[in-house]
Amino acid sequence: MSDSLLADAGTRLQAAMKYVSISEDAIERLKYPKFSLSVSIPVRMDDGSLKIFQGYRVRYDDTRGPGKGGVRYHPNVSLDEVQSLAFWMTFKCAVLNLPFGGAKGGITLNPKTLSKLELERLSRGYIDAIADFIGPDVDILAPDVYTNAMVMGWMMDQYSIINRHISPGVVTGKPLAMGGSVGRDGATAMGAFFAIEAILPKFGLMPPQTTVAVQGFGKVGAVLAELLAKAGYKVVAVSDSQGGIYARKGLDIPSIRQYKAASQGIKAVYCEGSVCNIVEHEVVTNQELLALDVDILIPAALENQITEENANNIKAKYIFEVANGPIASGADRILEAKDIWVFPDILINAGGVTVSYFEWVQNRSGLYWTLEEVNQRLKQKMVTETEQIWSISQELAIPMRTAAYVHALNRLGEALNAKGTRDYYVNGRVS
Ligand code: GLU
Repeated sequence: MSDSLLADAGTRLQAAMKYVSISEDAIERLKYPKFSLSVSIPVRMDDGSLKIFQGYRVRYDDTRGPGKGGVRYHPNVSLDEVQSLAFWMTFKCAVLNLPFGGAKGGITLNPKTLSKLELERLSRGYIDAIADFIGPDVDILAPDVYTNAMVMGWMMDQYSIINRHISPGVVTGKPLAMGGSVGRDGATAMGAFFAIEAILPKFGLMPPQTTVAVQGFGKVGAVLAELLAKAGYKVVAVSDSQGGIYARKGLDIPSIRQYKAASQGIKAVYCEGSVCNIVEHEVVTNQELLALDVDILIPAALENQITEENANNIKAKYIFEVANGPIASGADRILEAKDIWVFPDILINAGGVTVSYFEWVQNRSGLYWTLEEVNQRLKQKMVTETEQIWSISQELAIPMRTAAYVHALNRLGEALNAKGTRDYYVNGRVS
């Protein structure tokens, strides 16, 4: 694999190119992010000291609409990572036919080392630094790894203060009290669930016999594990960044969620005490979880979990990418040779941004939907696009990932053609 995450992400574009009639100029343009902003954010810490944090916002492409994408708080955040995540957002929004381009942001830090007040000052400072670069019609923020509705609320408020008017449409995933949408919290997991349920019957896989391992027990992985368990699938293994647990008979997911919430620690998936004695289990490492002999493997944590090094160990027959970029391109061929079906991130985890789109629509119209309406529209979108990508994959005899990129590129190509050629020779702000 290339050292650059973005270069690695770009190889998937290369694979899809030969199946689309989009100009080479347009493809060339799509290999590079349109705008990348790097900022330093001064934060007054609780002890009175001043600390400077590094932040980024990248608008990868805005041919199909304003930039759209989350903000990640994580120690590994780098410009390369944020550019790759913005690249994936571009294709994700096109796959779901949302009127958005792709963007992403991030701050390099371990959020668990900051107090709540420090986090608020940092989040507001980030908006101070990037305010000229974002807006409801320019680039719209959302939660990502280790950010949540509370952080989005601070960001929306700060942007509104700077602009001297309430501007809910600049951030999605906000608290309901600030114009958030019902159903946004669990939307990524719910969207993945709808896609999984549309795909599995094609392979004759039915819930009670189908075993599942989920890597990542955060706000997406844990919710999806519970949705799958409730639907009757046998969730046999879950893990978080500290490690995981495995039980052949299946795990009691709601209890593990409760246990993890109560202990507040990210390492709480480990079982101690009454809850986990309900069923016998083994402690497994994240690597062991990835290599379990299960039907379905769901990486729902971070990028680059399955690489050339460990792809050969994978025994699952179906992988659903709930994280962004969990499989490095170097692993693609190995997994293909093992006849493993990979269902790609830009489709499977698109439920979050789809409900973000619904939130943005609700903010602009001022009319708010019920949970039933949100979920029904989400299901309709997820199932429609899943079926279309499935058809492309069958017709062209190509993997689902390539089919998803073909689907997205066709839409991007149409928009690029409609727009003319100015973007190929002028680089500047959207006029
Ligand atoms: N961070 C999420 C993603 O990677 C959601 C983005 C959004 O809602 O804009 O898809």
